[in-house]
Amino acid sequence: MTNSQPTTVGFIGLGNMGSGMTRNLQKSGFALIVNDIRREAAAELLAGGAIWADTPAEVAAASDVVITMLPTPRHVDAVVNGLDGILAGIRDGGTWIDMSTSVPEVANRVRADHPDRGLHIVDAPVSGMSVGASNGMLQIFVGGEASDLQRLRPIFEAMGDPERILHVGKAGAGYAVKLMINQLWFSHLVATAEVLAIGVKAGVDLEVLRQSLIASPANSNFVENDVLGILDHGDYDEGFAIALACKDLGLSIDLARSVGVPAELSGLVEQIYRRAKAQYGDRAGEMTPVKLYEDLIGVELRRAPATVGEQVFA
Ligand code: NAD
Repeated sequence: MTNSQPTTVGFIGLGNMGSGMTRNLQKSGFALIVNDIRREAAAELLAGGAIWADTPAEVAAASDVVITMLPTPRHVDAVVNGLDGILAGIRDGGTWIDMSTSVPEVANRVRADHPDRGLHIVDAPVSGMSVGASNGMLQIFVGGEASDLQRLRPIFEAMGDPERILHVGKAGAGYAVKLMINQLWFSHLVATAEVLAIGVKAGVDLEVLRQSLIASPANSNFVENDVLGILDHGDYDEGFAIALACKDLGLSIDLARSVGVPAELSGLVEQIYRRAKAQYGDRAGEMTPVKLYEDLIGVELRRAPATVGEQVFA
């Protein structure tokens, strides 16, 4: 990949994540050809010079590299293997990067069904929320050949934090790492919600409790940073729908089952997430399980404005 002529990146899936990622690819000078089942999602990109394609096959035929950023493995399968899917358009020796939070089965099937086409297939799921997608600071976990990462690095760097674009192993490892990250983060969220609800109900000031946790061995990034969206703004992060969080937790448990490791805690966290999804709807934010606890104790977990940005313990 050289800078002499722009690489054409095909991008399929212009949702909460894909919209920010494509804007950053465009800003970095990549030529874009895009597709989504919602054509309106491409309006801003098309105004900026991107080209619309009616099908994933057309995207693939016109691109040097095709990226998918889709909700679930089922969507990835349809876009890759379906009628007018990527496989119907991609040239032999072409590159497909799946950045969705997904599982290796779809890519494995492509490899098994098309052993002679010389396709380069890379899994590269991301962390960093929709805000990371917007500001080009995603963490990217790449599974596949190191030489592919090296070749594709300029594309990844347009979307992610160069320091946190990690080669995590062979094909499929990126998916596994991403599922484990989400599993742990969702577990932190549920554990934190439970602790804050109990402490507040026991009469401790919310911010005093949080600062005590931060000062203790029980601190976590969730307690210190991520929970503040709720505590300061009542923001449960609708940029990541709870339906997708439940999908990730299900995939994570499937993975545990497939490798024969019991996942009791993950199972419980999944059930709590599913309860929140049933109660607040598919589109509710990924942090809505905290609301289950707020509703239970009849108190919204919010910091008093005076403490926002201040240390309780000087
Ligand atoms: P989203 O639902 O906002 O976007 C998905 C997009 O795919 C939509 O625009 C949808 O119209 C499109 N789509 C669905 N089926 C399609 C098809 N057959 N052809 C073309 N387009 C199709 O989802 P998102 O939040 O952007 O998440 C995308 C992926 O990234 C998911 O796997 C998710 O788990 C993962 N992820 C999301 C976040 C986040 O904070 N939102 C963070 C990290 C990873």
